Amino acid sequence: MSGPGTATQRSEVVIVGGGPAGLALAVALAQAGIAGTVLEQQGAAALEHPAEDGREIALTHRSRRILEALGIWARLPADEIAPLAQAHVRDGVSPLVLPFDAHRDGQQMLGWLVPNFRIREAAHAAAADAGVKIVTDAQVAALEPGHADMAVHTGSDARYAAPLVVAADSRFSSLRRMGGIGAHLHDFGRTAIVCRMSHERAHEGIAHECFRYQNTLAILPMAGLHCSAVVTVRSDHAAEWLALGDAEFAARVQSQFESRLGTMSVAARRHSYPLVGVYARRFAAPRFALVGDAAVGMHPVTAHGYNFGLYGVEVLARELAQARHGGGDLGAAGPLAAYEREHQRVTLPIYLGTNAIVQLFTDDRAPARLLRGTVLRVARRLPPLKAVITRQLTGGVRRAAG
Ligand SMILES: Cc1cc2nc3c(=O)[nH]c(=O)nc-3n(C[C@H](O)[C@H](O)[C@H](O)COP(=O)(O)OP(=O)(O)OC[C@H]3O[C@@H](n4cnc5c(N)ncnc54)[C@H](O)[C@@H]3O)c2cc1C
Repeated sequence: MSGPGTATQRSEVVIVGGGPAGLALAVALAQAGIAGTVLEQQGAAALEHPAEDGREIALTHRSRRILEALGIWARLPADEIAPLAQAHVRDGVSPLVLPFDAHRDGQQMLGWLVPNFRIREAAHAAAADAGVKIVTDAQVAALEPGHADMAVHTGSDARYAAPLVVAADSRFSSLRRMGGIGAHLHDFGRTAIVCRMSHERAHEGIAHECFRYQNTLAILPMAGLHCSAVVTVRSDHAAEWLALGDAEFAARVQSQFESRLGTMSVAARRHSYPLVGVYARRFAAPRFALVGDAAVGMHPVTAHGYNFGLYGVEVLARELAQARHGGGDLGAAGPLAAYEREHQRVTLPIYLGTNAIVQLFTDDRAPARLLRGTVLRVARRLPPLKAVITRQLTGGVRRAAG
């Protein structure tokens, strides 16, 4: 596959994708003394100073601990980290609220909300400081399996080889396909429109998820008198919402939220994300592994996507560090199989559960409306069920034995 003039660059692990998952893995490996190379298709400036993308990432306690250990948390601007005290869930026109707070789980907070572009920025800075080799403008176009090494080729005809290649190239991962790994894709037919907004009244750190009948509306607390409005609409209605003037958009959100935060106004540009859930059929193959959204791409309603990404990073780095300690091959089947087992055990039930919740709470037909109300009423009266959900929200996932 390599031409006569193609020079090969070797490292211990090649990571394709310099997003928040790929960069976090590179730092974790560097801490274990494993030299990784990150290949990223974007240019250096976009990686070093990522543009605001409207995503507010709810991070669990576990994710915070992982980010602290990686030196990423300390690089987040303190005044942009918003504590998440409670979450309130509402259905349709019912006045009933299903509240979640962290006290039952022995925590003060459910978690923290941080802008995605700040996480990307901090992860890049941490990787650069850890001495990770980051190659930008490097779009991987081909994968070349070998006996002792796996190699990738970039558009510029450079070749990078390592005992292990990790795909961290998003939920629509082309590396996953090149590696022969299929995926379950669920297109929800919905688009999330996200927008930073200002408002009059304090949000008190409460996130609101309102499952309405035409669209859902989430209001996520940000630092100060700001929130992120996440409007999820049928994808054929998205253009109309995106074409609204700022004042009309703000008035619509304010009215749907029944002015609970007083007058609202738009504070940044709107962004939209078509919602597709993805679950890879395998997370590992010979000399090849998937992390981040390339392994599990979640619907954002339960806020698990990057939290799962970090969990996977922690598990894979642990397995590779053990392999390195024992003098083993980093691309050997054993550590990769252990990673796959643990990550599937933790993520699959929540992936399926999230999809089922989304199906039910975006179904406006009469029987579904009835069931939606019943589910909320039952959940209100079942403290053990609420405790399980709260544990998921705070990131209290248990590690596998052994
Ligand atoms: C609206 C919204 C809200 C969300 N809210 C939350 C939340 O509250 N909590 C939470 O935990 N998660 C949330 N998420 C999910 C979270 O944003 C993702 O899980 C996370 O960004 C995935 O990171 P990643 O590094 O796996 O992938 P990405 O961020 O997609 O990065 C992939 C990288 O790979 C690069 N790349 C792709 N192809 C190639 C190639 N061929 N060669 C080289 N480079 C390549 C891309 O340029 C990109 O930099 C939300 C998502 C959305 C859309």
